[in-house]
Parts: sequence; C-alpha cells; structure tokens
Amino acid sequence: MPQSKVQYQEGFSLSEFIEAYGTEDKCLAALELARWPEGFRCPQCGEGERFGVINDDRRKRYQCNQCRHQTTATAGTIFDSTKLPLSKWFQAIYLIAHAKNGISALELKRQLGVSYPTGWKIKHKLMEAMKDRDSQYFLRGLVHVDDAYFGGELNGGKAGRGSENKVPFVVALELNDENRPIHLKLNRVSGFTSDAIEAWSKECLAPGTVVFSDGLACFRAVAAAGCDHVPEVIGGRKPKDVPLFKWLNTILGNVKTALGGTHHAFNFQKYGDRYLAEMSYRFNRRFYLKGLLDRLLIAGIGCEPMPERRLRSAELCC
Ligand SMILES: [Zn+2]
Repeated sequence: MPQSKVQYQEGFSLSEFIEAYGTEDKCLAALELARWPEGFRCPQCGEGERFGVINDDRRKRYQCNQCRHQTTATAGTIFDSTKLPLSKWFQAIYLIAHAKNGISALELKRQLGVSYPTGWKIKHKLMEAMKDRDSQYFLRGLVHVDDAYFGGELNGGKAGRGSENKVPFVVALELNDENRPIHLKLNRVSGFTSDAIEAWSKECLAPGTVVFSDGLACFRAVAAAGCDHVPEVIGGRKPKDVPLFKWLNTILGNVKTALGGTHHAFNFQKYGDRYLAEMSYRFNRRFYLKGLLDRLLIAGIGCEPMPERRLRSAELCC
C-alpha cells in the first residue's frame, strides 16, 4: 500500500467542520441538499412543485399540496424519528468518519455530551449505514479470499479458532492490475461450508470474478456465482508466508489490532458484523479523506430507519 499517499493526503479539519456545520441551520441545509439535490420532492406522490413548509417548535416539516403528506428531511432515513439536534448527528458523523481506528460508543458519549445509550444508538445506526452502503458493492476482477475468525481477542479469551466467542468471517479483497488492494469485504457466514460460501458469493461477487483462495474446499462454491476459482497450493507453508496472501494477512492484522485497541469487550456474536463493516467501510475510502463526512451522510440518508428493537436484534447474512 502506498502509505504516504494515504497518510499525507489533505483531510477535513476541525475548523473546517465547525465553519461548515457549526449550527443547527447549517446542518439542516446540508441534510436537505444531500437528500434532495434538485429540491424537495414528495416521497409519497413525487410532487416537486407544490408544497408548503411548516416551522413550529418541532422539526421543520414539508407538506405536499397534492396528497397532503407531511414529511421531514430525516424521515425514512437512518436519522428517522431522532430527537437529537442535527448538529449532534453531524458531530458524530465527523468523529466516526475520521477516526482512523474507529471510536467506541463510550468515547462518542463523552465527545458529544450525550448519555451512553444515546451514544450507543448513534454509533450502531451509523455503523449500520456503512454496512448497508458497502453491501451494495460487488467485488469484481481479481479477488483474494480467506477464512478468518474474529471475536476472541476482545474478551481476553483465546484468539482464533479456539476462542469461545469466535465468529467465522469471509475476508475478501479486490486487487487492481498492479496487485494493490481496492475494496475489502468482511462478511459473517454461518460456517465454512459450500452452501454458506455459495450464498455469500452470490451476494458479494460479480459474475466473472477470478477468486484466489488457499485449499479450503468450500471456496470452490464461488463457481455457483459464475466466478472462476483458483486454489493456491500452500504445501507445507503457512498462509502468511505465501506472497499471494500478503495483503489479506496485513489487513487482517490491522483490523484485529484496531478492534482490540478501540473497543471494550462487546457481544461479537451479535454485533461483530457491524463493527467489521465499519472497518472495511473506512478502509475502502482511505483515499478520500476530504469527502468522508459527505459520503457517510449520504449513506445514512440511503439507509432505512433502524428502530432500537431492530438495532439490537442479531442478524446473520449468509
Ligand atoms: Zn405528495
């Protein structure tokens, strides 16, 4: 990875953030612009010309003159039904998007001056938005895959396959023609079986992708998604000594260090995929520091509402 290119690129400073999003009005204007770049449009009937605006003590509401539907800039997005000022959301987006190794719910609570349950909900909603956004991307071209287990290292238990809290994940990395990493996916699977890998590859790989893996038999199942499988014979070597998997192993090491260093123990069985989605989301945008806030705002707008009940329920993707 060209480290200097990532590390020394121009970012988005705190002063610039305060200048752009320092008031509630500025945040609302930015949210409206991101949501309706060509002006308000009724989500119910599509009317974009005839509508009224209601400004009372609650959040600014739009009322469509055609179907009488009322809505707000946050309705139908991950920010739906929020009672928090938008400025708090923007501060959270700024902090989460720019924290190189992530930021815990506890740290978010301290920085935003909110309660812990509120910090937790903000953190998990924004992680869900990142997960949702990246799930729309299919890896293509040249992809390296491997099996990995996450979770144990966070609870002080045994790491890797021997851990009590271990959760199986497929690690998949798209590389460009120069063998540089482009896009990372860390997806939870029910196990390393052909059925699970078939379901995973249909959700995550574009047909025609060339998939390199070690000799683990289940990865042959990528053929079901129209992909070519190239098993690398490792022989007596460990995967980390095989040049082909150099990037995968470097990235896995970084992810484990970042997770262990930033977060207190959490229920990895339940929330691990969200935390890993946050890691890969940030990795996938490491060349675009300047636009991270805008991108996460748009991801939040595109993500459907997540009431707390749903936020707390475990989901298994494949
Ligand atoms: Zn309408």
